[in-house]
Amino acid sequence: MHIDFIGAAQTVTGSKHLIRTKHANVLLDCGMFQGRRRESVERNKNLGFDPAALDAVVLSHAHIDHSGTLPLLVKQGYQGPIYTTPATRDLCAVMLEDSAVIQAADARYINKAIDRDHADMEHVEPLYSVDDVVRTLQQVIAVPYHRWMTIARGVKIMFHDAGHVLGSAVTALDIDDDTKKRIVYTGDLGRKNMPILRDPEVVDGADMLIIESTYGDRLHGPIDAVDDALAAVLARTYQRGGKVIIPSFALERAQEVLYAIRGLRKQGRMPPMPVYVDSPLTVKITDIFKLHPECYDAEMRALLQGKDTPFEFEGLHYISDTEDSKALDASKEASVIISASGGRQEHHLHRRLPGAAHARPAHRGTPPARANVRRRARPPRRGGDVQRLLRTRRSAGPRRLHRSRVLAGPAQAGHLGAWRADGSEGADREARRAGAAQCARPGTRHLDRVLTGKRRPTRFDLVRCARVS
Ligand SMILES: [Zn+2]
Repeated sequence: MHIDFIGAAQTVTGSKHLIRTKHANVLLDCGMFQGRRRESVERNKNLGFDPAALDAVVLSHAHIDHSGTLPLLVKQGYQGPIYTTPATRDLCAVMLEDSAVIQAADARYINKAIDRDHADMEHVEPLYSVDDVVRTLQQVIAVPYHRWMTIARGVKIMFHDAGHVLGSAVTALDIDDDTKKRIVYTGDLGRKNMPILRDPEVVDGADMLIIESTYGDRLHGPIDAVDDALAAVLARTYQRGGKVIIPSFALERAQEVLYAIRGLRKQGRMPPMPVYVDSPLTVKITDIFKLHPECYDAEMRALLQGKDTPFEFEGLHYISDTEDSKALDASKEASVIISASGGRQEHHLHRRLPGAAHARPAHRGTPPARANVRRRARPPRRGGDVQRLLRTRRSAGPRRLHRSRVLAGPAQAGHLGAWRADGSEGADREARRAGAAQCARPGTRHLDRVLTGKRRPTRFDLVRCARVS
């Protein structure tokens, strides 16, 4: 048996791991590489193996850096099954379509610039179309958690909770080659005690473990402090009559923020300000959350039986329509705006900043305060020469997302160590060192300097993707 680490090795995007046994070829994830535009296009176009030679694909979760080139795989000739959980299948339907639509818009924009500047360059093409996404979805087979499923000759899988995003799974692969072996593939791992989802499970009996280390040796702040910090920012901003603009990933982070706000409302700590979710993709994804109670932890299931749920409470409004978003942009009322879309969020920031009334970094180094608003936002750039466009960090496909530190994402080193050892708590030094060595996080130090006010932000800091991990 051989394992080829084709993507997400020495970097954190483009997850693709190919397991080759005597009898079958199985691909774990088929993620999009996200980096500078030109480099990303080249790396994504070239999958690094023959799609027609695959027997099965296993998808750990719906984030684009794990799923984003599935439609390209299908376009290049893969006709076999793609196994994932039911929630991940539903999320892929909206996220891959969104990716295809953005790629088409990107290509139109760049090609126009090429024509306008008479640049001696070939027109760019999207990696895949919405039609390719539809074909991909037809090949998806949804497998619930905790059921064995034979996916190829001598290969069976079982999904376990990964606690990272809705539908995310740690996959146990039992492989019957010359000898029997169990490979455990974590995909991205979540943290314990996060809202909404069940905690990540520990899978027994692994002979080999393929584990993520996106955050390397970085330690996240304690979850318990989040509510207090958020309540303080909301109260302060409400008193000033300002807006709290919260940049959030469309998948999971936005829903976690809603969960936290709903909790503050219940405790009487939420000022009487409306909450707007201003992002079409987030609205669609939140609808999918409502369809998958099988992924929730006990607390979340109990909440759903009440009148106020984290996704539907008084004063919460979802905005998909562009005109409604513009009206919100023009409004002067104190409110909370949760937005994942680069374009919309930039408009909100541009209109509000700098402005003394609105939430902004109040205490250097305090993670929740950093997350809300960055000063000196500039308007989205229009025009610009072609070379500059191609150098931008926005890669074809994924939305430009802002990092939110209110609620931290995938597992960090200590959690990986605990997870790997036997589920026991406590930072594992060895794992931290290993994580640090494996993890490439280009630009993170630069972003940190911006977020802590040590450096003036550029436009890229505002729109830059913190990696969909
Ligand atoms: Zn992820």
